[in-house]
Amino acid sequence: MPRLFDRVTIAGVGLIGGSLALAARAAGLIGEVVGYGRTEANLQTAQRRGIVDRYSLDAAEAARDADLLLLAVPVKASGAVARACAHTLRPGAVVSDVGSVKQPVVEQVEASLPAGFTFVGAHPIAGTEHSGAAAAFPELFQGSRCILTPGRRSTADAVAKIRALWEGVGMRVDEMDPARHDQVLAWVSHLPHAIAFSTVTALLDADPGMEQFAGSSFRDLTRVAASSAEMWSDIFLDNATQVDAAITQFIAALEAFRRAIAAGDAAQLTTQLLRARAARQLWSPART
Ligand code: NAP
Repeated sequence: MPRLFDRVTIAGVGLIGGSLALAARAAGLIGEVVGYGRTEANLQTAQRRGIVDRYSLDAAEAARDADLLLLAVPVKASGAVARACAHTLRPGAVVSDVGSVKQPVVEQVEASLPAGFTFVGAHPIAGTEHSGAAAAFPELFQGSRCILTPGRRSTADAVAKIRALWEGVGMRVDEMDPARHDQVLAWVSHLPHAIAFSTVTALLDADPGMEQFAGSSFRDLTRVAASSAEMWSDIFLDNATQVDAAITQFIAALEAFRRAIAAGDAAQLTTQLLRARAARQLWSPART
C-alpha cells in the first residue's frame, strides 16, 4: 500500500497512539513519527522502542509541518491539544483521533480547529488494561473493528485516507453517526467497564480476603478494572446519558435475576439463563 502520510504527530504516545505508530510504520503507511506528551520519561520510552523518531514536550513544536495529527490523549484533552497543535501543522493537514467517546470529542475538536483543517473522528475498538508507550504493540488492531464518525469538518479524501490507515493495520472499518457510536459503545464497552470496576469495589467492601480464591470467571469479568482511572473517568462522564441508560437497564436485569433467586423460582431463573446463554453462544464479538 502506498504511503498515506509523510509526517505524523502522535499526541499521546500511549497504548493506542503508540500501537498505531508501530503498526502503520511496519506497514509502510506513514513516514516520520513525532511524539507529543506531558512526561518526558514516557516519550523517551517511545523513542527507545522505535515508536517515535523524535518528540517534543511542546505541542506546537511536535506538530510542526505534520500532515497528520493523531489525537490519542484522554478524550477530555482532545480539544485543547488540537488547538495547541493546529497553527504549526502543514496547510491542509488531516486531524483525527482515537477517542472512545465521539459526540463531545467531535464537537470539541471541530470548534478548536482553525478553518482549512479537516477532522475525521475515529475509534479503534481494540485495547488492553495497560497504559503508556511501554504497553504499545503493533498487533493490537489486527482483526478488530474501527468506527469512523465523519462530520462537518471531514472531506471525502480525508475520510478515505483515515479508512485506509486503519484498514492497513488490520481493522474492519465502519462509519457511524457520533451519537449512535456513543449509544452502541455505552453497551458494548462502557457498561462492561462500569460492571468490572463496581464488582471489584463490591468485593472490597464485602471482604477483600476472598479475592485470593478467585478463579477465571472473576478474573475475566474484572480484567478491565485494572484500566487507567484518568481515561475511564473521562469516558463515563463524557458519555454520561448513554452510560446512565445502560446501567439503569442492567440494574433492572440484575434485579430480575435477584428476584428469581430470592423467590426460589427455578423456572424463571432457568428461562433467564437459557435466553442469555443462547444469545452468547451465537455471538462472536469483536476482539477487544
Ligand atoms: P494511555 O496509554 O494512557 O495513553 C494516553 C497518552 O496520552 C499517555 O501516554 C499520556 O502521556 C498522554 N496524555 C495524557 N493527557 C495528556 C495531555 N493533556 N496532553 C498531552 N498528552 C497527554 O491511554 P490509551 O489507552 O492509549 O488511550 C488514549 C485514547 O485512546 C483515549 O482517548 C481513549 O479513549 C482511546 N481508546 C482507548 C482504548 C483502550 O482500551 N485503552 C481503546 C480505544 C480507544 P503523559 O501522561 O506522559 O502525558
